[in-house]
Amino acid sequence: MFTNNIYKKIYRKIKKYDTIVIARHVGPDPDALASSIALRDIILNTFPNKKVYAVGFPVSKFKYLGMLDKFEEGMYQDALLIVTDTPDKKRVDGVDPDKFKETIKIDHHPFIETFCDLEWIDEEASSASQMVIELVFRTKLVMTKEAAEKLYIGIVADTNRFMFYYTTPKTFRLVSKLIQRTNINFTNLYESLYMRSIRDIKFQGYIANHFEITENGLAYLRIDSKVLEEYGIDASAARNMVSEFNYIEEVLVWCIFTVDKNGELIRGSIRSRGPVINEVATHFNGGGHIYASGARVETEEAWNALIQELDEVCKEYKEKLKNKKES
Ligand code: AMP
Repeated sequence: MFTNNIYKKIYRKIKKYDTIVIARHVGPDPDALASSIALRDIILNTFPNKKVYAVGFPVSKFKYLGMLDKFEEGMYQDALLIVTDTPDKKRVDGVDPDKFKETIKIDHHPFIETFCDLEWIDEEASSASQMVIELVFRTKLVMTKEAAEKLYIGIVADTNRFMFYYTTPKTFRLVSKLIQRTNINFTNLYESLYMRSIRDIKFQGYIANHFEITENGLAYLRIDSKVLEEYGIDASAARNMVSEFNYIEEVLVWCIFTVDKNGELIRGSIRSRGPVINEVATHFNGGGHIYASGARVETEEAWNALIQELDEVCKEYKEKLKNKKES
């Protein structure tokens, strides 16, 4: 648990630095983008004379969350780095944390490593966006309506519309205050996040029809680049569709893998509604949350081993449930 202190400490650092760079993890999702871009805009709104940049590789599908700044080497000079939504140094996108004068981490992932001078980690927070809202309400930072809209989308995306277990009373309290104070029209915001084309829906049909489902409740699908081309879907959009397959009676853990063009890298998005999956993911160059993880493997053997470990956690989970019912 953190005292008020952490908010003050972060605010003081923000106040102290003229140049601030905000980064987030590689392969960003809406929460990573919203938390970093909104924090930039809030700091600029509060301190118009500072130079504040939100950096990282842009993702065209999420461009409605705002423009990113191009990072330049000169930005390391006497600058403060704030990293949002990223638990480990190797996944920070586009900058080297060691080259900044001071560094701050704001993250809600399970702890992996300390790589910043000041770290605020709240594993019970629904999202990094929620933490940014909390930081603003606890300090003299001044929210803007546009930033509030982005942060709302960040929370909604990470919690899948307030559905996941890490949606807490605090999430609702902060969101309620956010809406009251900024008057955002939140119903309109869903359109940018959830609008799909008929092509996407057809591709979801492809996924549903091709899932392998084991008797332990693991659903998995590996999609090669030819199929992606046929449907005109890019690999990250295909993996993102994993969110559409929750609450299937026969399925406890489900995952979508894509294979890159030269067949050398297999990336996967994994989701669960019971078994803990992030430990398995860490064995395969991955990690994440207990019910939402990612992994990447380079060989057929490693992929088979990953599938087997995921199937094993489903089996253990089912057995535990059965024993509980019988006792
Ligand atoms: P995704 O399936 O890409 O939406 O990722 C789900 C969660 O797992 C997010 O919190 C990611 O940051 C995390 N994650 C995804 N891929 C990796 C990876 N290769 N290493 C560590 N964490 C990952």
